Amino acid sequence: MMASSINFISTRGNTPATAIDDALIAGLAPDGGLYVPEHIPAFEGEWSPAMTLAETATRVLAPYFAGSRLRDTLPALCARAYDFEAPLVAMRGDGDSLLELFHGPTAAFKDYAARFLAESLAALHSSKHGAPGRTLSTPDITTILVATSGDTGAAVAGAFHLRPGFEVVILYPDARVSPRQAHGLECWGDNVRTFRVTGSFDDCQRMAKTALSDRDLRGRMALTSANSISLGRLLPQVAYYAHTALGFHALHGEAINLIVPTGNLGNAAAAFVAKAMGLPIGEIVLATNANDVLPRYFAGGDYAPEATKATLANAMDVGAPSNFERLRHWHGDDAALRAAVSAHTVDDATIRATIATAAERHGIVPCPHTACGLHVLEQLRAQGDSRPWTVVATAHPAKFDSIVEPLVGHSVDVPPALAACLARPAHGETLAADDAPLRERLLSR
Ligand SMILES: *Cc1c(COP(=O)(O)O)cnc(C)c1O
Repeated sequence: MMASSINFISTRGNTPATAIDDALIAGLAPDGGLYVPEHIPAFEGEWSPAMTLAETATRVLAPYFAGSRLRDTLPALCARAYDFEAPLVAMRGDGDSLLELFHGPTAAFKDYAARFLAESLAALHSSKHGAPGRTLSTPDITTILVATSGDTGAAVAGAFHLRPGFEVVILYPDARVSPRQAHGLECWGDNVRTFRVTGSFDDCQRMAKTALSDRDLRGRMALTSANSISLGRLLPQVAYYAHTALGFHALHGEAINLIVPTGNLGNAAAAFVAKAMGLPIGEIVLATNANDVLPRYFAGGDYAPEATKATLANAMDVGAPSNFERLRHWHGDDAALRAAVSAHTVDDATIRATIATAAERHGIVPCPHTACGLHVLEQLRAQGDSRPWTVVATAHPAKFDSIVEPLVGHSVDVPPALAACLARPAHGETLAADDAPLRERLLSR
């Protein structure tokens, strides 16, 4: 039986129910809220441990795409987007494991969603051009505007680089990312423009939001976002949680417990969706850096966004986690949300100590973000928790060599895809942290 199609509504409640293709193209809902599915479907596909991540992804995403023009091409699209696995690797001691999400082209978990988004927007773009009444010469270019604290921009740039019909504009905070992250943001050129903004990530995010809600600008160009607020980032991330949880359950007969390093709550929100789809996920624990808005909220305080603090785990330097709105929407009220999740903050000194001792204690070398998750595992153990836990490894340590190598006392091998990116020349430009100069650059393509 064919499932009926799922529409998408806004967390703010002032957007009509929208079909998936339109929600993907729009990114942000017109009322300023975030798109969420009208209901979360149960995972019903057959599954076997012999399946690849791409095959699991097709099954997980099928109910959401039942009403999409991409429904029939979904398997091919997933095969291209998820062409690297997400291995679950045993760590030393107590049955714990590491979910390695860093085997993609820019060595961070954001590659999965960025590649899926690029594949789906490109397919929607060409199906639109193939529609009756449109000429193939229609010169429309979609501009993807991305504010990034480090890894999103590189993943989105890599996924859209040289794709006809798309241009990528990246805003990143100058001097707040690691040298290798900066190179990963600037190494593209062609249809990718990278701006080093003389301000913080919050400035970049505000500039992007202003541009995206500028009606005049949007009347003059097709502008969309690819930030973690975008539906096309959220849904594809559900796939690796589903695949991992099903594999874990097949092996151990138990639900998997996850510790997720968290900034904007995009990755963790996908874990929630996977659990809500009925996949075998037990507890979800969040690990933040010194930006502790979420830990304070989950401990019973108000939700009080703050200015971002710069930390060693810079891709989690977020003072106002944008996907919080989705979590609150799904849980109804604060009490239900607090009962479902806990969150712990990890400061820079602890990140350093955790990286320095991780080889001995866990048999791995973590990036600073993953180290936050590892420390939360160590805290749980210290409190007498004996359940097996899986820490989500969000980036490869070689991307943060300037932090990691002095602490571990040896060099970290660079994965081949990252090495290729580091070998290309850089193309960045400096931009003031103001709305007007960005507007001017957007219009001057
Ligand atoms: C983006 C990122 C995070 C935070 O993920 P959110 O979805 O924003 O919570 C953590 N670690 C790394 C390496 C990242 O790039």
